[in-house]
Amino acid sequence: MVCQRCRGLLVCETFDDLGIETVSLYTATRCINCGYIEDAVVRANRFRRSETTRGVPRRRGMVKKEMPC
Ligand SMILES: [Zn+2]
Repeated sequence: MVCQRCRGLLVCETFDDLGIETVSLYTATRCINCGYIEDAVVRANRFRRSETTRGVPRRRGMVKKEMPC
């Protein structure tokens, strides 16, 4: 997988977020070159920005694990 922005290498990350009930675990891809992160939430927000104005506070205490795709 390569970054849409810079064609850098994307790595999969698993986020264990204990602060959100509905999504306690999800995976995303992060570019190790430019830091661009894309996951299902990011993709959904692109199509539903008007419906997500309430938003979610940036996560604190998030545990990130990196692993090769
Ligand atoms: Zn990139």
